[in-house]
Amino acid sequence: DSRAADRRVDSVCPYCGVGCQLTYQVKDDAILAVEGRDGPSNRNRLCVKGRFGFDYPRHAARLTMPLIRKPGVAKALDPDFDPANPSSHFREASWDEALELAAKGLVDLKTTHGPAALAGFGSAKCTNEEAWLFQKLVRTGFGSNHVDHCTRLCHASSVAALMECIGSGAVTASFLQALEADVVVLIGCNPAVNHPVAATFFKQAAKQGTRIVILDPRGQALDAYAHRSLRFTPGGDVALLNAMLNVIVTEDLVDHDYVDAHTEGFAALAEHVRELTPEVMAPSCGVDPQAIREVARLYATAERAMIFWGMGISQHVHGTDNARCLISLALACGHTGRPGTGLHPLRGQNNVQGASDAGLIPMVLPDYQPVGDAQLRAAFEELWNTPLDETPGLTVVEIMDAIRDGVIRGMYILGENPAMSDPDLEHARAALGQLEHLVVQDLFVTETAQFADVVLPASAWPEKDGTVTNTNRQVQLGRQAVPLPGQARPDWWIIQEIARRFGLGWDYAHPREVFAEMKHGMVSLDHITWERLEREGSVTYPCPADDAPGWDVVFGDAFPTASGKARFSPTVPLPPDEPIDGDYPTVLTTGRQLEHWHTGAMTRRARVLDDLEPEAVASLAPGELRRLKLVPGEPVTIVTRRGRITLRTRVDPGMTEGMVFVPFCYAEAAANLLTNPALDPYGKIPEFKYAACRLSPG
Ligand code: SF4
Repeated sequence: DSRAADRRVDSVCPYCGVGCQLTYQVKDDAILAVEGRDGPSNRNRLCVKGRFGFDYPRHAARLTMPLIRKPGVAKALDPDFDPANPSSHFREASWDEALELAAKGLVDLKTTHGPAALAGFGSAKCTNEEAWLFQKLVRTGFGSNHVDHCTRLCHASSVAALMECIGSGAVTASFLQALEADVVVLIGCNPAVNHPVAATFFKQAAKQGTRIVILDPRGQALDAYAHRSLRFTPGGDVALLNAMLNVIVTEDLVDHDYVDAHTEGFAALAEHVRELTPEVMAPSCGVDPQAIREVARLYATAERAMIFWGMGISQHVHGTDNARCLISLALACGHTGRPGTGLHPLRGQNNVQGASDAGLIPMVLPDYQPVGDAQLRAAFEELWNTPLDETPGLTVVEIMDAIRDGVIRGMYILGENPAMSDPDLEHARAALGQLEHLVVQDLFVTETAQFADVVLPASAWPEKDGTVTNTNRQVQLGRQAVPLPGQARPDWWIIQEIARRFGLGWDYAHPREVFAEMKHGMVSLDHITWERLEREGSVTYPCPADDAPGWDVVFGDAFPTASGKARFSPTVPLPPDEPIDGDYPTVLTTGRQLEHWHTGAMTRRARVLDDLEPEAVASLAPGELRRLKLVPGEPVTIVTRRGRITLRTRVDPGMTEGMVFVPFCYAEAAANLLTNPALDPYGKIPEFKYAACRLSPG
């Protein structure tokens, strides 16, 4: 009964990058209900996860004591392990004992094998302050740059392309600018499922007259609001986008004034796409040439147009090329830097933007300063009073390979679940089992924590103070609403205790002190203070003054590149890493469901959400089900070159025949047992969106 609440605490949703502001209704230190608040990205709206996914912190399996692995227990996933009764594998320990053991194992490996033997995975669920502290610990305590997080599995390729072409990895305009746009292109994203409140703004825009263009291999709910909706062949995106560029160049729909004033490299791009006509590209992308022409003309001739994309673009071996094409489209047509224009990779986790900004990335320091740049590195060496490694570290999937090769021997994993989220799980799980020392800090004994030597009980989002940065570059303040259960501790405190055992003299008393330090290393936080966030709740970066709002749209005058101009980057359409063939004739693609979040550690422990979607399902087109002689609900087995799973079928008229979609949140039918670990060469992101598979009934 929400009317019985004895206090109300304003905070931010812990799930997706939309960053909805919400209010917890609390009674007797328990959350009774959640309501939407008038935040800049949600205007009182919430989706089903934000509204009902709040009770996971009180789940019976919640970690409330540090755990230490019992001697002789194998480091492997045990199907009979019960996270609510971990005593079969772990014993409870005091904080002193657990911290000593956790740190000693890491310190000993560093002493014996050097800094390169250790690595850390942070999380895009970390607050900005936790992310800052975690990467600082790896860089100044472990002594290497082997620190990464799940942005590697999400938008690393988008960021690689954006950094290369426009000098900044963040969005150029918030999704609210869709309301000002004449045309909005949604490609490789499914906002009604993955960014549901952002989707409500797209619907609102459509009702106001904005023409929505949806480009995707799979149909989706927003098709009902679309002016045009084109399905392309999985993996055919670079071909489709080059064909659109060809139309814009050959029909001279280019904004020459903009191109001359703000870009370089256009002549080479124009030359490159001249032969890539819609007719030439149609066999690769599967779209009618006339439809390609119409969509290209619609985008190019709009007064104001935006492009939004998701992991359907980024999670390919050609993910960076996909994003380069989208940037080229926007630059060629002058669709950046003004209201109603821009490039917007819809960010996944609630703090993937902030955790990346704060330096949870192996090749860059905070604010994307390359670790190899001596001058930029010197600024952080002075701030942290210690020399830093100049060698870029390994990425998420590379770290797993380095474990198998005996190079990485010890890890500290905070809030990540690579035993569920990495591609080719058999390989990833074997690597985790091979680690000589693994420390996992989390809310539950996750699949990854089952491999740990020490498990440290962490803080859930409603139990901590901290800042978080959403897909719109809005820095927002989350506030503690309820106390920590049992012996669980704030994450910043745990990281600090590990750091102290590495001999680092840290003495932070509250996240606001960490935020104050971050401001010395991150110009992106200029004019944003903890006090201002307490007062205003949200401030967009970059922000020009202490009393000014931040910029919703950026790069109207110049881009943050050496020349101030953006660069075109031509691309060549290439096939997927593992094309379908006679043995594996069906395309497997993976993603999220509306009700569940990533590996399901939180949402599968939220009662309402789990009731809504309790079981793994494979979505198939009606014709595909008929071909398999299955009725919806009957099981199907999916086999790839790496593994097999069996799960129930669900009919989805939006699916294309020859494809199957599997969500990756179900441990009992883990989609990533099947996925291909092949990496995009620039962003180092795996090809989650395309693997060749074989389907059979039962
Ligand atoms: Fe939370 Fe995203 Fe849903 Fe908003 S749209 S309530 S941020 S999951």
